[in-house]
Amino acid sequence: MTSVALLVPPFQGHVNPALGTAAALVRGGHRVAIHLPEDFRVAVEGVGAKLWPYDPQPPPDWAAVDDDRLVRFASLPARLAHESRTVLPIVLAALAAHPPDVLAYDQLCVWGHLAAAVTKLPAALLCTSYAAGPGWSPWDHQAYAALPPVPVADAAWTASMDEMAERHGAPRMSLPDLFGAVEPVNVVFMPRVLQPAGATFDDRYVFVGPALRPATGNASCIGDTGEDLPLVYVSMGTMFGDWPQLSALCDLAFADGRWRVLVADPGSEQVDRGPVAVRRSVDQLAVLDRAAVAVSHGGMGSVLEALNAGVPLVVVPQVPEQEITADRVAALGVGVRLDRATMDSEVLRRAVDEVADDPRIRRAVDRMRYAVQAPGGASAAASALLRRAETSTSDAGSSATPLL
Ligand code: UDP
Repeated sequence: MTSVALLVPPFQGHVNPALGTAAALVRGGHRVAIHLPEDFRVAVEGVGAKLWPYDPQPPPDWAAVDDDRLVRFASLPARLAHESRTVLPIVLAALAAHPPDVLAYDQLCVWGHLAAAVTKLPAALLCTSYAAGPGWSPWDHQAYAALPPVPVADAAWTASMDEMAERHGAPRMSLPDLFGAVEPVNVVFMPRVLQPAGATFDDRYVFVGPALRPATGNASCIGDTGEDLPLVYVSMGTMFGDWPQLSALCDLAFADGRWRVLVADPGSEQVDRGPVAVRRSVDQLAVLDRAAVAVSHGGMGSVLEALNAGVPLVVVPQVPEQEITADRVAALGVGVRLDRATMDSEVLRRAVDEVADDPRIRRAVDRMRYAVQAPGGASAAASALLRRAETSTSDAGSSATPLL
């Protein structure tokens, strides 16, 4: 039996692959602890893992940062660096008391990078989005060049790194260090074909496809009106999707009654208006099982979940990483890209009809569904982490108490 600690940032798109991986490890008789805030207790315990809770303290007075989607995206690593000041000591104490055989940390999890460096435990990297390597890095992509400078975030990053270096002997990381980290095992939750320059990544990178969390099968959010109509599922994700006009745009686009539409919008009230239903949050896996088309922001989790369900995509990217994904989706022929600035109701409707009706897109989606499922998802991720434990040469924690 192997013990694994998973360090991920408290965002749904990063937590879900960790839950899927944890479920596979637990099924195999292994022990898993996941460090997350209390809000995630039910989800973590639901997959048979142990929650190690912490209470993240966001930086004070970042209201101006929060107002703008791109600024918020650009400053996300600095926000997590700031939160590391309170989270890292808690994580280090838990790891010292119960050292795992493998410490697997998400590529965006600043305290995970630092905990791996400080403890020298056998570590693995979890890439919920693109891997960075010598042949390609999202950081060097032109989409990222358009990001605005955010001096308050830069200052927070530097101050946080200084503090953690002094208090814990942690390395003073730069942002390129964060994005360029490589471990002996790097689990990438996508098929290699989706990764730009995929062939340039060596065998330390294991492209496993999506590690889907256990499905609840609860599609009650879809409602029962227009059951005979095909379903368009619309979601701009959980982090950068603030778009108050989106459901009104859907009202116009789908007024003729060929489609019924479910919009998941965390910023909206529950609404049922003709063929359009709006919900704050849905069980996306259950909805995708019934959807004919997904209109998505291009978050990696959502795109893979749609392809895993064989659903073609209309991608409307909200932030640079999603622009890369929108272009990959279009290049692989499994959907089309629209741009938010020019998307009106007619453009949206034409795109939905196109991806639903085009037989070339249908064939490409069927091929991609196989490519997404074939690498093994959560089981393959679990196997890669177990391999990391077997090949570990670290002597850290040899006299320690077990993880759970
Ligand atoms: N999700 C969900 N219900 C919703 C909206 C999103 O379950 O109403 C899940 C979705 O299945 C996915 C994750 O939240 O696993 C979103 O991750 P993604 O990478 O697509 O985008 P992000 O929200 O991080 O931008």
